Amino acid sequence: MLKVLSSTLVSCRHAHVFATVPALRTKSPSPLFDALSQLTGLTSRRSRTVTNRWFFCSDSSGDSGEDGSRVEVELKDAKADSEESDPKSSSAIVSTNPRPEDYLTVLALPLPHRPLFPGFYMPIYVKDPKLLAALQESRRRQAPYAGAFLLKDEPGVDSSASETEKSVYDLKGKKLFNRLHEVGTLAQITSIQGDQVFLIGHRRLRITELVSEDPLTVKVDHLKDKPYDKDDDIIKATSFEVISTLRDVLKTSSLWRDHVQTYTQHVGDFSFSRLADFGAAISGGNKLQIQQVLEELDVYKRLILTLELVKKEMEISKIQESIAKAIEEKISGEQRRYLLNEQLKAIKKELGLETDDKTALSSKFRERIEQYKDKCPPHVLQVIEEELTKLQLLEASSSEFNVTRNYLDWLTALPWGSYSDENFDVVRAQEILDEDHYGLSDVKERILEFIAVGKLRGTSQGKIICLSGPPGVGKTSIGRSIARALNRKFFRFSVGGLADVAEIKGHRRTYIGAMPGKMVQCLKIVGTANPLVLIDEIDKLGRGHAGDPASALLELLDPEQNANFLDHYLDVPIDLSKVLFVCTANVVENIPNPLLDRMEVIAVAGYITDEKVHIARDYLEKATREACGIKPEQVEVTDAALLGLIENYCREAGVRNLQKQIEKIYRKIALQLVRRQALNEFAVAGEVVEPENAKAESVDESSHNLAGSDMKVESETVESSSHEQTAETPVKAVKGQTDNRCQSDVNLKGRTEWERVQDNEAPKAVEKVLVDELNLADYVGKPVFHAERIYDQTPVGVVMGLAWTAMGGSTLYIETTLVEQGDGKGALHVTGQLGDVMKESAQIAHTVARSILLEKEPNNPFFANSKLHLHVPAGGTPKDGSSAGCTMITSMLSLGMKKFVRKDLAMTGEVTLTGKILPIGGVKEKTIAARRSDVKTIIFPSANRRDFDELSPNVKEGLDVHFVDDYNQIFDLAFSDEQNKEK
Ligand code: ADP
Repeated sequence: MLKVLSSTLVSCRHAHVFATVPALRTKSPSPLFDALSQLTGLTSRRSRTVTNRWFFCSDSSGDSGEDGSRVEVELKDAKADSEESDPKSSSAIVSTNPRPEDYLTVLALPLPHRPLFPGFYMPIYVKDPKLLAALQESRRRQAPYAGAFLLKDEPGVDSSASETEKSVYDLKGKKLFNRLHEVGTLAQITSIQGDQVFLIGHRRLRITELVSEDPLTVKVDHLKDKPYDKDDDIIKATSFEVISTLRDVLKTSSLWRDHVQTYTQHVGDFSFSRLADFGAAISGGNKLQIQQVLEELDVYKRLILTLELVKKEMEISKIQESIAKAIEEKISGEQRRYLLNEQLKAIKKELGLETDDKTALSSKFRERIEQYKDKCPPHVLQVIEEELTKLQLLEASSSEFNVTRNYLDWLTALPWGSYSDENFDVVRAQEILDEDHYGLSDVKERILEFIAVGKLRGTSQGKIICLSGPPGVGKTSIGRSIARALNRKFFRFSVGGLADVAEIKGHRRTYIGAMPGKMVQCLKIVGTANPLVLIDEIDKLGRGHAGDPASALLELLDPEQNANFLDHYLDVPIDLSKVLFVCTANVVENIPNPLLDRMEVIAVAGYITDEKVHIARDYLEKATREACGIKPEQVEVTDAALLGLIENYCREAGVRNLQKQIEKIYRKIALQLVRRQALNEFAVAGEVVEPENAKAESVDESSHNLAGSDMKVESETVESSSHEQTAETPVKAVKGQTDNRCQSDVNLKGRTEWERVQDNEAPKAVEKVLVDELNLADYVGKPVFHAERIYDQTPVGVVMGLAWTAMGGSTLYIETTLVEQGDGKGALHVTGQLGDVMKESAQIAHTVARSILLEKEPNNPFFANSKLHLHVPAGGTPKDGSSAGCTMITSMLSLGMKKFVRKDLAMTGEVTLTGKILPIGGVKEKTIAARRSDVKTIIFPSANRRDFDELSPNVKEGLDVHFVDDYNQIFDLAFSDEQNKEK
């Protein structure tokens, strides 16, 4: 293998030298090239005679303070001495006496780190004063030589844990002798500075015996390289490989370049043996490997060992290069990015796009928080400060920067400790409440009480008001009025169907797109820390899949907890104790109990017709008129029309539908007014340019649109009748109408001018759209059919009951009919989507009715022999509850006795098996519903008398109400004899 290698190397040797180095050669002759040339014998031996002043590389052992320094020595004989194999070179040297080879007994110097190679320079420290003195003495005696031997590692001690300098100096005599490697170097002591001794290696030595112990003196043999054939191809090839490897390393390692340069410039002659020493000496191999090279006297073997070392060095330098490259790339990449970023910033600044600059941001946040500095809790200020510092440290393009910026944005946008001055003026509050809402005196009274308490306590916190009632009764708008009365900001937050706790408590900041909860958003929007927050539809709170919204809401509402409300996003507690919470609900029963517990429920039951008329007239109509841009004098809706609207179209408890219908009417009126105005303008324009017949045609066409609504127009002044076209349309000019068309013929131009003035004022000022009960259907369509009252006189077996739902109170019929009769066929079948409670109620009613009939008509076997069917109409709507018992009994008895129930009677109440009447809920709603259905007589359980007495007089007015304890009383009222006699 080696042979093959060598032959190729030899064959391409010249080519190699010249082919690969020409660049080096032409520029400045490389030292290595020179060295190589010497080996090949092709170049001049320039360097051989250059100088006898030698510069030696310092050994790189770390203990030298002058590491890397070069010591210039006059060394006349060293050259000859170190190269005995070349007789020519020694001829130039003047030898001194005694010659180095005469030193057979030398002082032994321990080398802790590396062996010394012939031709190399090394400083060492000698701490042993005796040894130092002996060295100085030998220098004085013109015998400046000593033996330098590498120290063996202490047996059992890890070689990597190198011995301290101190322990080396402590070694003496025999101990030291045993620790020295046998083969070392004869070293010339070139100078001694203090305890630092400078050595130059000369030739290899081997210790033969110990002479004296202190200082350690040994007998040595001088070693010579084994003779070898200089022209041996394998040796040449190996040395070649060493050289080319050295050259490769040289390319990458600047440290080596220095070594090589120095060495090859000054080495007098170049031999294979020297090459091997050189390679080993400058390599970074471990000391044992290097010592091995020193000990090897076979030049070829030595070359091989060196080759191994330099190859390893080559690998290391490659790794070093790639590490350096990678790091350089990384650094340059970062630098590049930094530069580009800076450029981008500069460009943005130049274009005025740089708005979110970090400092600008920080100062914006600081400015914002400055106004709250005194009132803001210290822990919040601390968090803000920390976040601001963090913002400065973060990369502007990083995602965390955005998170921090948004967080700071929220933190600084909240109104920390800033409150609006609360107004506890009861008189003013009353004015405001009356201004916004008609009636509701009980509700208003409760609110005024609340404000009065607030005035005495100095704060209105600590209570949660819950307004309950059917839709459209003004719960939300009362909430708004309370805010106005108290001079608080208003915020509405609907929780209907809310299932996500994060809506209330916020998301954690770690989520992408995280947002704080509604309360924090509210505070940011209203800008004060004491707003009135209306939590709408609290009875429709959803059920969360993760976390319970009701508990989160409780945390928010509970006065005990909300002084330190913790939003997940904000992460600092906020004080919500100053916030006034008002909730709204349709059905109080659906509010989670822990929440209901903390509320003060105010029921808003709904309105009777009379109240609705007032609301429509004084509030809704006014507001709608303004919203439509119509002036009061342009329209008149008669009382009869309003009444008709309420009775036939808007019978529900609230007024939202009424409001919608009124808006509908006003929108239509607005269209009519605008059309008429357009018609006027068109007609006038037509008069100027068009012939008579063409104009008439167009007027007809336009007026056609109005035909649909049989609109009545009242022209109050004679002059305004100049709008001749009104006479041609179905719109009637009620009074003072004249056709002025002939006038226009007389003075066309003048009249147009005059009319223009009129156009601007007259139609708006004097013409009125009249809405009365006759044309109401033109505006709101045909009346809605109401199933609530289907019988004028209820037939036998049918009774009107009163029910109560989320939409308010309502009347409903209970019907019983006979299916079949026969001995022992007595049974009951019920329909009408009744719930379990109501089904049971029907069974009880059946039993009670039977016993009552037995009592009243002992001979009537009706219930025993009849299969009955009881039905509650509107089967599409599920019904349940316990207030229809007495109605069912009455219905069954009516059938059993074949007697009519008294006309215009409605009843409500649950009955026990013994016929006792139990109280019911929703008295007000039921009363209102009964009034709507034109009921004249109502039967309530006695226990509900108090509820009824509390109702306002206008609700109770004209009603014949009976309070009963026992079913017998109902029996008497329902089947009063006159009624049945009449029929
Ligand atoms: P709710 O919240 O109970 O469903 P809203 O507060 O939205 O009802 O009321 C519906 C409309 O009816 C609002 O425009 C409100 O102003 C009006 N309204 C309700 N009650 C009254 C009242 N007593 N006086 C004047 N307007 C009323």
